[in-house]
Amino acid sequence: MAKVKKIYYCQHCGARYSQWMGQCPSCKKWNTIVEEVVSKRDLKQDVPLHSISPAQAFSLGEINTTQTRRISTGNKELDLVLGGGLVPGSVILLGGEPGIGKSTLMLQTALQIPHKVLYISGEESPEQIAMRASRLGFDNPKLKILPQTHLQKIFPVIEAEKPEILVIDSIQTLYTDHVESAPGSVSQIRETAAELIKLAKQSGIPVFIIGHITKEGYIAGPKVLEHMVDTVLQFEGDRHHQYRILRSLKNRFGSTHEIGIFEMTSKGLETVENPSGVLFREQYDQYSGTAAGVIVEGMRTLIVETQALVSPAVYGTPQRSVTGYDPKRLNMILAVLEKKAGYRLSAQDVFVNIAGGFRITDPGLDLAVAAAILSSVENKVIPPQSAWTGEIGLTGEIRPVSHVEKRIAEAGKNGFEVIYLSAHHKLENQVNDLKIRSLSNISELASLLKR
Ligand SMILES: [Zn+2]
Repeated sequence: MAKVKKIYYCQHCGARYSQWMGQCPSCKKWNTIVEEVVSKRDLKQDVPLHSISPAQAFSLGEINTTQTRRISTGNKELDLVLGGGLVPGSVILLGGEPGIGKSTLMLQTALQIPHKVLYISGEESPEQIAMRASRLGFDNPKLKILPQTHLQKIFPVIEAEKPEILVIDSIQTLYTDHVESAPGSVSQIRETAAELIKLAKQSGIPVFIIGHITKEGYIAGPKVLEHMVDTVLQFEGDRHHQYRILRSLKNRFGSTHEIGIFEMTSKGLETVENPSGVLFREQYDQYSGTAAGVIVEGMRTLIVETQALVSPAVYGTPQRSVTGYDPKRLNMILAVLEKKAGYRLSAQDVFVNIAGGFRITDPGLDLAVAAAILSSVENKVIPPQSAWTGEIGLTGEIRPVSHVEKRIAEAGKNGFEVIYLSAHHKLENQVNDLKIRSLSNISELASLLKR
C-alpha cells in the first residue's frame, strides 16, 4: 500500500506547505490553502509505454539542431502562434475562459490535422463531440475520441492506439491514482500534468492540454502548470463578439507575442484574412470619442478601434473602466493629460474600450487612447481617415514605436489618409497616399483636438 501524507496547497498560486495557514505567504491571498492527500508514487504504475526507446547519449555532432522537425497542424494561425508548427514531444497548454471556444479550436485542429489524433474528453460525451464535429464540416478518419478521466485507464489506450497527437480536454477533469484529492485540485492538476509531460517526452507524442481560466485570469489551479509545460497559449475574446485571439504567452520552441486571429462562425473558427478590416469598422459613424490605433502584436500589424467616453462623475469617486487595455496605462495617460495639457479629468468618469473584445498589450496604442479621450472631452469628431500610433511617456512626450514602417504600410493599405506618430521618427511628410503628421508631445495633440 502506498504511503499517505498530508500536504497543503495554495489553490491560487500552487505553493506547497507542510501545514495550514490562513494567508498564503507566497501570493498573500487569504483562505486559499487547502489540505490535499497525496500518496507516494507507486513506480510500477508509472507511465507504461513499451514503445519508449531506451535512454541514449548523443555527441553534439549527432544532434541536428538546425531543423527541429515540425508538424503542421493544418491551421495557419495555430502554426504561426506555435512558432511554425508542433514540435514532437512538446506539451502545449491551451488556456482560456470557459465557453470561449477552446474545445472548438482543439476539435477543429484534431479534424484538420492529417495525423492520428486521440482526443480525450472529460467534458463532453462522444455524441456531443460527434455532433459538434459534423457542424464543423471536417472529417479526419484517423481521429479517435476517448471519453475518460482516469489517467491510468487512458495510458493503455494510448499504448494500443499509438496516436501521433494527443488532446486532453480538460486537465481539470483528469485524475490519477497517485493523488487522492479531487479532480481539479492543485495536486491532481500538477500530478496528472507531470505524468502527461513524461509521456510526451518519452514517446515524442505532442500533447495539447486544455486548461480553464478562472475569473481572475489564472489557469484554474496552479500557476506551476505554466512552468511545467513547453508552451502556453491563451485563447481570448469576448463571448459576445465573434472574434478570438490566440496568444502565445510562453514558448520554448519559438517567440512569444505571436497572435492568431479567428472568427467564430456557425462552422467553427475561421481564419481572418485582413484583421484590420474587422477590428476597425471602415465607415464608422461620425461620433466623438473614437480613434483608430495602429498596433503591432507579434508579427501582426493591426488597426483597432479605440473608444472613450468621458463624463462628469455622478458620485464622489470618479469611475475608471477599461476593457482590452492596461488600466495602469490608462491612469498614467489621464495623469499626463491633467498635468501636461491642463485637462481636469480627476473629476470625470472615464471609460475606455477596445472594439472587438480584444486585449491589446502594445503601448503604441497610447496615442489612440489619448486621442479618443480628448475627442470625447471636447466632443469633437476625429476624421475617420486618421490613424494614430505612439507611446506616451510620463513627461508627456510622444515616444517612437517599433516597426513604424509596418504600421504606416498597414494604415495605407486600409485606406487611411493621415497617420499621427512621434516626431522622433523624423519621417517624410508623405508615404504614397498617406500623410505623415509628427507630434512631439501631448500638448500638440491637445491643440489638434481643441474645439
Ligand atoms: Zn498562494
